Amino acid sequence: MSRTRVRFAPSPTGYLHVGGARTALFNWLLAKHSGGRFVLRIEDTDSKRSTAEFLDAILEDHRWLGLAWDEGPEIGGTAGPYFQSERADTYAPLVEKLLNESSAYKCFCSPDELEDRKSGSSQEGRDWKYDRKCATLSREQSAEYEAENRPFVVRFRIPDGTTRFDDMVLGSVEVDNRELDDLVIARSDGTPTYNFVVVVDDSMMGITHVVRGSDHLSNTPKQILIAEALGTEPPTFGHLPLVLGSDKQVLSKRRGAVAVGEYRRRGYLPEALVNYMALLGWSSGSEQEFFSLDELIAAFDITKVSRKAAAFDPEKLAWMNAQWIKRLSVSERTARVVPFLVAASLVSDSPDEEELAELERIVDLIDDRLKTLADIVEHASFLLADDIVFDNIAVDKVLTKPGSVDILNDLCEVLSDAPDFEPETIEELTRNLAEKRGVGVGKVIQPARVAVTGRKVSPGFFETLSVLGREKVLARLKTASELAATLTTE
Ligand code: GLU
Repeated sequence: MSRTRVRFAPSPTGYLHVGGARTALFNWLLAKHSGGRFVLRIEDTDSKRSTAEFLDAILEDHRWLGLAWDEGPEIGGTAGPYFQSERADTYAPLVEKLLNESSAYKCFCSPDELEDRKSGSSQEGRDWKYDRKCATLSREQSAEYEAENRPFVVRFRIPDGTTRFDDMVLGSVEVDNRELDDLVIARSDGTPTYNFVVVVDDSMMGITHVVRGSDHLSNTPKQILIAEALGTEPPTFGHLPLVLGSDKQVLSKRRGAVAVGEYRRRGYLPEALVNYMALLGWSSGSEQEFFSLDELIAAFDITKVSRKAAAFDPEKLAWMNAQWIKRLSVSERTARVVPFLVAASLVSDSPDEEELAELERIVDLIDDRLKTLADIVEHASFLLADDIVFDNIAVDKVLTKPGSVDILNDLCEVLSDAPDFEPETIEELTRNLAEKRGVGVGKVIQPARVAVTGRKVSPGFFETLSVLGREKVLARLKTASELAATLTTE
């Protein structure tokens, strides 16, 4: 049995975006490829910014993408709790342990003092590191300050030497510990910080592999050193290349357009988004471009992830989505468009078998014109709605032409006597009518198309009429002929 245990650790302070979802996907694939487990851990210690709404959306997005978690919210598991806010008791004794072993120390420097020393230093700004003033305080001195009720933070004592690790993506990474800051692991109110908590949680949850964005790379040596000081074996790390938007900026939660939920609402298929995200920095090395989740599980190899930043190309994703829609069977495509039709009030909330059969005919008629599932509304509204909306230009250009009233009336007559309403029958009757009138069939189809669809462009004319059914077709031909009559006599 594989021991691989990975985790995705979102903070519910925003919606899941494509960059974060790719991290979740790569973790999931790494686990599933080796029969391991995918743990979902909610890092909700920022109680001011964490909300139940964001959490629900994150869970829903995972479900929609097909990234079921083996342990985590709703289902629990043996390594819980899976909400960091419920693990608060775990951390304090471990901070104490590090203090007792001198792997950490209390720092009494106030924020103002630190600011003064920082601005007086030659290494001003981002590179300034804590100058270790309190690192050498004796236990007695420290106890004395504490007895005076001076506030303090706890800092981790970065040991001398170098920290090296084999990153699954980046290969060997080595950092001189002198570059690292004696970071704060517990704030003055006692709450532990991210770098400490994550090490404790990963260790207690038995996480073997940590896959995350390379924006966390600078945290990794610190986390390895903390893990070692706690006497636990650090996990194996893999840092994914960043995902850049078309403006070359890193995709972030603040940019709503790249939220996973937004793609769902716009009618993207989860298959397409998963497929596209998998290729953001990873390639199988073969020519294959379309991958189902199962195929990804089989092919995924994290060592094949590129080190270079990946470019998020919304047009490529849109193209891939259209391709995935085409690949669905008509009945599957129908099932997927129903929620969009329901939302547009074009079908009843839970269509029965008869309605579904009609919808399948419509979806079949629309063929591969759908670029998103939401496009169904635009393509099918004239077929499903009782009243059609006429395109003004189509009316002006076509219905006002001399003879259109007669053509519409004649067609209405022949179709009302049609023995059946199959496309072949409608075609034969329409052609006969054109011949009788001594015109090309296009001359009949043009006004009739505007009459029944409201537009100049539609799917195949005969099939459209057949799908619409006799009753609607005759009513629409009649309405349009009356409209044409008023327009031409004005
Ligand atoms: N909650 C952290 C984040 O969202 C997790 C980082 C990690 O994977 O260690 O960035």
